[in-house]
Amino acid sequence: MVGPGSSLGDLDGKVALVTGAGSGIGYAIAERFAREGAAVAINYLDRGDEAQALARDLAAAGGKATALEADVSDAVAVTSLVAKIVERFGRLDVLVNNAGIEKSQPLLEIDESSWDRTLAVNLKGPFLCLQTVARQMKESGGGSIVNISSIHEDFPFPGYTPYAAAKGGLRMLMRNAALELAPLGIRVNNIAPGAIATPINAATLADPRKVQRLQEIVPLGRMGKPEQVAEVALFLASRRSSYVTGSTYYVDGGIIRYAEPL
Ligand code: NAD
Repeated sequence: MVGPGSSLGDLDGKVALVTGAGSGIGYAIAERFAREGAAVAINYLDRGDEAQALARDLAAAGGKATALEADVSDAVAVTSLVAKIVERFGRLDVLVNNAGIEKSQPLLEIDESSWDRTLAVNLKGPFLCLQTVARQMKESGGGSIVNISSIHEDFPFPGYTPYAAAKGGLRMLMRNAALELAPLGIRVNNIAPGAIATPINAATLADPRKVQRLQEIVPLGRMGKPEQVAEVALFLASRRSSYVTGSTYYVDGGIIRYAEPL
């Protein structure tokens, strides 16, 4: 539901696409951006009811929003998604590449199809969206692209090799794109969340021992909330970060710095 909260209109007049926004972090970002005045395209694949309900709630609260289905790993679907947004709202200023999947499999048991699907959604998808949206942003004079990567763009993740490989690739996609797109006025940055309470972590959240272990190793002593990621996404999407490009922002309670004393 659309909650109360102050707004400074940081995204007034802007149009934003958030991928995979029917749940979790993407949902919170879409909601936050709308509250700051953006017209928001809520992309979904398998969370249609939630995405449509969010679009209705945002519109009822006076915002502009539309829910659009597309598989981010499908080039034809991405082209059509971006065309629909431009047709509906006239421009596109912000892209948040948020859609992602993960699957636990020991390295020696990873099958080709699960490697391919994880890389397709988590790396090819952000590339397709970035390229398609950047072509549009070039026409309108610039924009901001934010990729939701992970601490695992840098931090190994045993049992999740395709996921970590895709997120590591997303880090270099961001760095290359930041350089190539800077002359066009397009900024590109990553957010690297740590352990955030969302559906992707359902198995962890259902296991009290895993939650306790996380609380022990996260320096701030708790899991994060999607809204805390959304605050940093808002900063990177808005003019407040006008001199920021090519960087990764960790939103992880400090877990990337975790170390045991000797
Ligand atoms: P989530 O499962 O709630 O969100 C992922 C969303 O992506 C879902 O709504 C899903 O339907 C959508 N999606 C999946 N495949 C898609 C496709 N092909 N096209 C369009 N949408 C698709 O989990 P979340 O935690 O909100 O994840 C959001 C992003 O944050 C992911 O990229 C994830 O890797 C990243 N992340 C999450 C955490 C965490 O602890 N929750 C940590 C680091 C990074």
